[in-house]
Amino acid sequence: MSKPITDLIHHPYVPPGSFGAPQPGVYKASTVFFANVAAMRARDWKHKQGYTYGLHGTPTTFTLEERIATLEGGTHCILVPSGLAAIANVSMALLKTGDEVLIPDNAYGPNKAFADGELKNWGITYQFYDAMNPADLQARIGPQTKLVWLEAPGSVTMEFVPLAHLAHICRERGVLTALDNTWAGGIAFNGFDLGHGERRVAGSGADVVVHALTKYPSGGGDVLMGAIVTRDEELHQRLKLTHMRVGWGVGLNDVEAILRSLPSLPLRYRAHDAAARELAAWLQHRPEIAQLLHPAFEGSPGHEHWRALCGDDGLAAGLFSVVFQERYSTAQVDAFCDALKLFKLGYSWGGPVSLVVPYDVPSMRSARLGCWTHKGILVRFSVGLEAVEDLRADVEQALGALA
Ligand SMILES: *Cc1c(COP(=O)(O)O)cnc(C)c1O
Repeated sequence: MSKPITDLIHHPYVPPGSFGAPQPGVYKASTVFFANVAAMRARDWKHKQGYTYGLHGTPTTFTLEERIATLEGGTHCILVPSGLAAIANVSMALLKTGDEVLIPDNAYGPNKAFADGELKNWGITYQFYDAMNPADLQARIGPQTKLVWLEAPGSVTMEFVPLAHLAHICRERGVLTALDNTWAGGIAFNGFDLGHGERRVAGSGADVVVHALTKYPSGGGDVLMGAIVTRDEELHQRLKLTHMRVGWGVGLNDVEAILRSLPSLPLRYRAHDAAARELAAWLQHRPEIAQLLHPAFEGSPGHEHWRALCGDDGLAAGLFSVVFQERYSTAQVDAFCDALKLFKLGYSWGGPVSLVVPYDVPSMRSARLGCWTHKGILVRFSVGLEAVEDLRADVEQALGALA
């Protein structure tokens, strides 16, 4: 007869199987049991045929990985603790001492910081390239170039780069490409199939696609997670080995939160898009604004590339930036941001709450690449799910603070 404490730990009750419910169950584990020593010795953490250790997956992480792979049109997915960890995992797995990586000058800033602060210390060099100019990428690819990062639109400045063309150049030169496809969220375009209609360039998709699930897939502003998607078993295994060695596990409650949000992703994406366009269309004609930067708007840099990739009636994330007239000082634009009530000051995006961030763009870009020519101060808006009339009224009252 066991003591009560032992019964509490080794309880004989097993609930009936075949439990069906809208949400998949959440399996949390560091330790996973093996049926016997032979099974333990035969463990295989690489192929999702079974379970070995929490870091290498549970039914819950496998389920989300399959769904994210499907969302992006890939065949393999690896979950990591943040979008930035996905970027780091890819660069660490695909580069070694003596190699060079090319990163768009307008990429998500921490990707550039990872190259400068970490990769450089390991003898991996980097160059930033002007992603609006395919000839610049072409000229920078050398014998040491082993990876080219792609991203559209440019972070903060929102210019939509000619992705299909850039990826095509890399393919011709035999260089692997990794696309940060957070903006498209698996909805606006497919990273493995870059191109649209007659204008598509055959076979010009990226080799690896990363996502910050933190953004629209989570949709709550409360979860950090990233994903690395491929269509190639060999490439997936290279990425997976690095992932295993660095020990990047994800919280199972966080996986559950994303599994729960994912079915509404296409609806939310459209809602954010529609609200952002309505607000942007109004804001661009305000006398305080010098320029609107939103890839779906005629006149925004790279609009034709967005149209070619996403389609004439294509979708876009609910993000845009505006450049204020040059006459407004930093202090005045700061006062505008501070005066906003519904738009909160905060980084990241993709949740229900609208956000705003003022940026000092020249300090974020290499002067020699000259992609950025505007003089006024830039403010980026991330449009949440509030009523768009209320958001517009909020921006209108805050514009009063500029005077
Ligand atoms: C937010 C973001 C990331 C990083 O995601 P985190 O989960 O915050 O680390 C990477 N790339 C892009 C384009 C992003 O917007």
